Amino acid sequence: MKSINKVLIVGGGIGGQSASIALRQIGIEVEIVELQPKFDVYGVGIIQQANALRALDALGCADEALRRGSPYPMVKMCTPTGHQIAEAGTPPIGRFPSHNGISRRVLHEVLLERSKEVGAVYRMGLTVDTITDKEDGVDVVFSDGSTGSYDILIGGDGINSKVRNLIFGESKPNYVGLSNWRYAFKRPKDLDTGYIYFGKKSKLGIIPMTEDSCYIFVVSAEGADNPFITEDQMIPKLQSYMAEYPIPMIQGLIDQVVDAKLVNYRPLETLNLPAPWYKGNVIIIGDAAHATIPQLGSGAALAIEDAVVLAEEIKKQDGVDAIFSRFMERRLERCKMVVEASEKLGKWELLTFEGKPLPEGANVGATMGKTCMGLTQPI
Ligand SMILES: Cc1cc2nc3c(=O)[nH]c(=O)nc-3n(C[C@H](O)[C@H](O)[C@H](O)COP(=O)(O)OP(=O)(O)OC[C@H]3O[C@@H](n4cnc5c(N)ncnc54)[C@H](O)[C@@H]3O)c2cc1C
Repeated sequence: MKSINKVLIVGGGIGGQSASIALRQIGIEVEIVELQPKFDVYGVGIIQQANALRALDALGCADEALRRGSPYPMVKMCTPTGHQIAEAGTPPIGRFPSHNGISRRVLHEVLLERSKEVGAVYRMGLTVDTITDKEDGVDVVFSDGSTGSYDILIGGDGINSKVRNLIFGESKPNYVGLSNWRYAFKRPKDLDTGYIYFGKKSKLGIIPMTEDSCYIFVVSAEGADNPFITEDQMIPKLQSYMAEYPIPMIQGLIDQVVDAKLVNYRPLETLNLPAPWYKGNVIIIGDAAHATIPQLGSGAALAIEDAVVLAEEIKKQDGVDAIFSRFMERRLERCKMVVEASEKLGKWELLTFEGKPLPEGANVGATMGKTCMGLTQPI
């Protein structure tokens, strides 16, 4: 039985970097090819719940992420006027707080520093052009014409994954009718935790990133045809959504939305690759396999967990097929739980923003609570 000693990871995002660390920690040679010539991570924040911190800890990154982020307790769920109706989020796990808000750029730096420290090799501005899967490994031709041979290839190249399309055939992400607006601010003094306000035309969240900074996200429905939002619409549209919430902390930030280029606007999409997420010696992780909308703030957490679980299974060195099949057993139901609950929450939000009634029995709090509790289970 051939063991896995040399791995190619395609994509240096959260999942790819995490996989590089997890594999280097067990002594495996790792090369990462990243399409961007230079990393360019946008400056808004990302929510890392306790299960994400637990997985980051397995990579030796949790303490640094906590030090450079902003830990906070359960999120307060509120009416548009600020009355708290519930609490949400994954409860603390061991020494890890319920949440850590962190700048995406900073999380990227924490992972990249650790990945380089443990010896992963990065090749920037490069992708794979062809992948030839053989009995005993994978041969690759890169976009610069160079070639390489590896024991396995991990596709961590995000929702529009080229690896997935090369191995499983073309599949396109599904636009869910919702969009997400994000902007970073100086942190208001009264922001003591994360808040989510449920409005009639939008949902607004305000999340700490450091002691001095925070970000706001707004979920809205811009139209079933996914209209293009021009740069001159960015500021007035985001400001008008924020104006829906007569809360001093939010109203005080409206005038601080001043740079259209810093408004991060993203139509929300999903992609679910049918199981198994592997073929021969190629396996897909993170958004490339199971891209979810951020209604539960857990897509990156799943990508990090994928990386940790894959390395745990590879460590057993009992053959690629056995390793990949156990990976699927451990990951499929957990990822499905998040993806399906997020889709359900997204559908209910869309109905609300369209002024339509929710289906009988729809219960946002219960759906969030059950999924977040599920995420506390060991991976
Ligand atoms: C609006 C929004 C808010 C979110 N908020 C949260 C949150 O609060 N908490 C959370 O846990 N998750 C959140 N997510 C989800 C999270 O961002 C993703 O799940 C996570 O980034 C997935 O990581 P990944 O490494 O799989 O993919 P990506 O982060 O997309 O990384 C893919 C990498 O591959 C590279 N690449 C792409 N194509 C190629 C190619 N052909 N060859 C080589 N490299 C390539 C890209 O440049 C990139 O570096 C959010 C998502 C959205 C859209």
